[in-house]
Amino acid sequence: MKKKYIALVAALALLVSLLAGCGGSEAPVQSEAEATESAPAEVTETEEPAGEAVAADVQAVIDRGVLRVGVKNAVIGFGYEDPLTGEYSGLEIELAKALAEKLGVDVEFTAVTAATRTELLDSGDIDCVLATFTITDERRESWDFTTPYYTDYVSVLVEDASGITDLSGLVGATVGVSSGSTSAKSLVKAMIEAGLIGGDGFDEESFDPATWTDGVSFRQYDDYPTISTALSAGEVDAFCVDKSILAIYRTEGRSYIDAEFAPQEYGIATAKDSGMSAVAEELVTDLLADGTIDSLIAENGLD
Ligand code: GLU
Repeated sequence: MKKKYIALVAALALLVSLLAGCGGSEAPVQSEAEATESAPAEVTETEEPAGEAVAADVQAVIDRGVLRVGVKNAVIGFGYEDPLTGEYSGLEIELAKALAEKLGVDVEFTAVTAATRTELLDSGDIDCVLATFTITDERRESWDFTTPYYTDYVSVLVEDASGITDLSGLVGATVGVSSGSTSAKSLVKAMIEAGLIGGDGFDEESFDPATWTDGVSFRQYDDYPTISTALSAGEVDAFCVDKSILAIYRTEGRSYIDAEFAPQEYGIATAKDSGMSAVAEELVTDLLADGTIDSLIAENGLD
């Protein structure tokens, strides 16, 4: 009885395999697709090599066919949108395109500011941020960052007429900074280190630009053009942020003070513990190793 049953199963199996063989060279692909349909719960990957499961958030981007990236639109060399053509260019734009290419999807840019980039990432409106976003320990608690792809420094822009030429000239000044940026904290730290302010009461964790009044005070703005206008209007005595960002506002009659401080390491930010974090890290590590990032830095005039 048992033997007969086994023989019947074997014969049926042979018949099925012969029938499948009729499909010619495409048969294995078809049968794989059929297996996918019959067992959807087990299927977590598409074109990745066998054995490497694709995380759900990465799969969602692949299924959507578009990687949505938060970028700056007025930082020449990093993220800049040509006002006439609407074309984006810069190091961060190229890295975003490379990330999309790695996933086999299109790229879509959303202009962000220091104040909006994390909200948009948290809400899922964008998949990652490539927007002069400095890696800090505090930020690492909320988001993942890749290995840095660029290091900038903070500086200060003033109107020449102000007579301010170095950090000492900022004692008693009101400085314009962007909300959500590292700038105010970096400036206070630099002034403390230069012995210009005492620094009692300075606490890295709890520092708030809105309430700091020891030796220098701050006004916070939502975007950089507004700070530039405030500088012209004399609403603030100085404009403090990364040099890469200040460059576009360094117009006739304005200068940087003689100080560059607080290295700012830029990384790609992604949702904490997401699959996208691993993909972004792999991209940056690979492009650093093969020299692509160095070439992009040079091509964008950032060296
Ligand atoms: N890079 C600095 C930061 O992440 C300056 C702000 C900005 O990127 O706009 O805080």
